[in-house]
Amino acid sequence: MRAQPKASHFIDGAYVEDTGGAVMDVVYAATGEVIARVHEATPALIDRALASAARAQRDWARLMPVERGRILQRAAAIIRARNRELSELETLDTGKPLQETLVADATSGADALEYFGGMAATVTGETIPLGRDLVYTIREPLGVCVGIGAWNYPTQIACWKAAPALAFGNAMVFKPSEVTPLCALKVAEILHEAGLPAGLFNVVQGRGAVGGALVSDARVAKVSLTGSVPTGRKVYAAAADGVRHVTMELGGKSPLIIFEDADLEDAIGGAMLGNFYSAGQVCSNGTRVFVQRGIKERFLKRLKARTEAITLGEPMDEATQMGPLVSAAQMEKVLSLIDTGKAEGARLVTGGLRLNGPGFYIQPTVFADVTDTMTIAREEIFGPVMAVLEFDSEDEVIARANDTEFGLSAGVFTRDLTRAHRVIGQLQAGTCWINAYNLSPVEAPFGGSKMSGVGRENSRAAVEHYTQIKSVYL
Ligand code: NDP
Repeated sequence: MRAQPKASHFIDGAYVEDTGGAVMDVVYAATGEVIARVHEATPALIDRALASAARAQRDWARLMPVERGRILQRAAAIIRARNRELSELETLDTGKPLQETLVADATSGADALEYFGGMAATVTGETIPLGRDLVYTIREPLGVCVGIGAWNYPTQIACWKAAPALAFGNAMVFKPSEVTPLCALKVAEILHEAGLPAGLFNVVQGRGAVGGALVSDARVAKVSLTGSVPTGRKVYAAAADGVRHVTMELGGKSPLIIFEDADLEDAIGGAMLGNFYSAGQVCSNGTRVFVQRGIKERFLKRLKARTEAITLGEPMDEATQMGPLVSAAQMEKVLSLIDTGKAEGARLVTGGLRLNGPGFYIQPTVFADVTDTMTIAREEIFGPVMAVLEFDSEDEVIARANDTEFGLSAGVFTRDLTRAHRVIGQLQAGTCWINAYNLSPVEAPFGGSKMSGVGRENSRAAVEHYTQIKSVYL
């Protein structure tokens, strides 16, 4: 098996196996081949992971922040030096093309480790004069944090959660998605190679039940989940029972609004990026593409031509632009939503079919004449399926864009920047773009409003979510 890790879990600074847990096959999405086999964590192993994290965190919190930061930055340098190997593993784990993983996954994880490594020593409190008295505040770590990841960006999600948690003095126990268990183990290995003391970043494998056990453990101070809204509700409820801190990065059905005056080729590029990158398995995708009536047919004609030019293929071939869906189950779910789109009367402009062969490939798909009430305009599909809707006026499109339970992202394409700011100002979404889409640098806060989430990842905002304030009256 070509991607078999040394063992299933990484606990207390070392790979650990426990064959008592159920077996989970890791499947390469491009071929259906089993490339690794890992075991689910047993209750004893979960306990070991939490106990070692709690023990290690006490000393880690007492270390000079600059020393913590130095270790994270060393890990970032190792990740950059091993980018090709890590990108190939990411491709095997997810099926995403190497063309993407070489620039978007390990590198983005390294960005987070560098950024928060640098920020570690800058976190300060404040002094509040009170006449002859004084209050000062200290930002303290929370303690043991649990990270739970989705399957679309396994390296990036592990790093985006680990970097701020560790920088500010916490420990983390991380559970990857059962579909993509491999990459987080490498992150753990590299953090320890960089000098991270044992126990501070532990990885345990398992399905939802393992996540559930972690989230409800009394030793856990915070839970950070990247996943779907239904899982988010369960995890949030379990965390609430112990009054734990949460960050919830959940799903979306984000609007991308294209006005008649937009640069058409740019806007089409944005829409394609926001629907077909990573075979559409990106939470912030602009899957409801609202196009103003006057340019709709021109937009669709060029979009069809450019979409049909996308190269699907073996993800390890650097010429491949789009790979398979992550799993057979995800492919079936997306195919079923495509059928629903057709049945509800949307016009199929291009795509819509599964490719022949063993992998989980679906053609990049565009539907036009989509209405607001259709299932494909309301449900998150998480696959390469774009829904194009038409609109006439600014006020109308704002109201329709906001008519959803989600609020993760939004985008606007127009040459009129006054309008761009006015429209963005009224859209209910946490992460927005003007004349661009899906760029998420570590410097920018990332997260959703409404059902799409609570809290923000990345940026200075993460300090709020991985520390707590102690206020001292003197
Ligand atoms: P899921 O919600 O199915 O799973 C997310 C993680 O939660 C997995 O590790 C899963 O384990 C675990 N889990 C499931 N049930 C529980 C439970 N009861 N308690 C604790 N943990 C549990 O999401 P997917 O993996 O299918 O990922 C796709 C979703 O993630 C999409 O909705 C997407 O929008 C969202 N997402 C959001 C992002 C954001 O930043 N806002 C970024 C990327 C994705 P297991 O897989 O083993 O079942």
